[in-house]
Amino acid sequence: MIISPKIKGFLCTTAHPKGCEMDVLQQIEHVERVKGQGLLAQGPKKVLVVGASGGYGLASRISAAFGSEAATIGVFFERPAVKKRTASAGWYKSAAFTKQAEAAGLYAKNLNGDAFSSEIKQATIDLIKQDLGQIDMLIYSLAAPARTLADGTVVKSALKPIGKSFAGATIDFNSAELRSISLPPAEPQEVADTVKVMGGEDWELWVHALLEAGVLAEGCITTNYTYLGSEATWPIYYHGTIGKAKEDLDRAARALAQPMQAVNGKAYVAVMKGLMTQAASAIPGMAVYLSLLFKIMKQKGTHEGCIEQTTRLFRDQLFSAQPLNVDQQDRIRMDELELADEIQNFVKAQWDLVTDENLATISDFAGYREAFLQMHGFAFDGVDYAAEIDQNVPMNLVNG
Ligand code: NAD
Repeated sequence: MIISPKIKGFLCTTAHPKGCEMDVLQQIEHVERVKGQGLLAQGPKKVLVVGASGGYGLASRISAAFGSEAATIGVFFERPAVKKRTASAGWYKSAAFTKQAEAAGLYAKNLNGDAFSSEIKQATIDLIKQDLGQIDMLIYSLAAPARTLADGTVVKSALKPIGKSFAGATIDFNSAELRSISLPPAEPQEVADTVKVMGGEDWELWVHALLEAGVLAEGCITTNYTYLGSEATWPIYYHGTIGKAKEDLDRAARALAQPMQAVNGKAYVAVMKGLMTQAASAIPGMAVYLSLLFKIMKQKGTHEGCIEQTTRLFRDQLFSAQPLNVDQQDRIRMDELELADEIQNFVKAQWDLVTDENLATISDFAGYREAFLQMHGFAFDGVDYAAEIDQNVPMNLVNG
């Protein structure tokens, strides 16, 4: 079939297999280019990525596999194509990653299912025991709208401010027009539920299960990703429900320090840059911020995507001979370019000036929109979008 983007709100309900493959190839190319400057000293060799099919998780998997020849196991929640419905972008990207990894002689296996469940945790442990023995790195990069608890209760996260209402604007992808949005403050239960879904509890459950099974190698490290942002995003992000969940990651990292000592291991939270990913596109108000951010960071030559961030995290921080650049809460900082004064001063100055008329000039909405389309495999040069393509892309799943 011929596949084109179908955008509804902040969702694109189609994905293009060739474009998703192109995205993976470009990320691998970046890692190979950086590797050309010298091999990663003491990089990870056996890596489990939970949330491995999109954004920061996929980029981390590519940085590990192609930057340090790591065997990788990916856990994600994606859907294959069904009849005329395309697969999800994460399905196509994981299939493309696996094909490339295997062609390069690298071990890559996948589990598709609910990472919150004990069944997926157990299936992952069984696979590690069978194929790898132990892992030396666990990357937890899950971003989920809901979590099913062991008793079947479904808890949903909310993206809301706390204490007072939020009034802001978002951008309609189809019409490129600003839309006012207002959100009431979250109820206490919504705050607690968001922490349950996006906080550190499930990360801790994974680490404890892996430790108890004896599959974490001596010196194993685990990472989780957070976002702090700046004044512009605080009302809806860091001071909102999701911020409370992110605070809980810091708690979880501290709580994991002691159990990780059993393997002389460490648990880190890394603060990453704001970027277009499936999860980020759902956050109210982020569209204007990211469009302004992209404009000024591209102008200054400091713009990075997920793969630049994770590759730099590996090379300059986690596996570098230099000491880690951490803040007072012991979080690894990767957001210094986003938070530079000249960048934030620009965003602050333009924030209230954005209108439908000047959106295309004072912000990089075109780049933001392109990143959204590319996330689903569209808008890549070199892909013939008018050509017929098979939407069915097979992928071997350990639990499939
Ligand atoms: P994403 O939406 O691109 O990826 C989320 C991943 O989680 C996917 O692989 C998806 O399949 C998987 N997933 C979702 N629900 C699942 C489930 N129930 N079981 C198994 N897998 C499931 O998200 P992202 O933006 O890359 O976010 C990853 C982490 O990075 C999050 O903690 C996020 O807060 C953080 N982060 C994101 C940004 C940003 O700007 N995007 C910035 C800093 C930190």
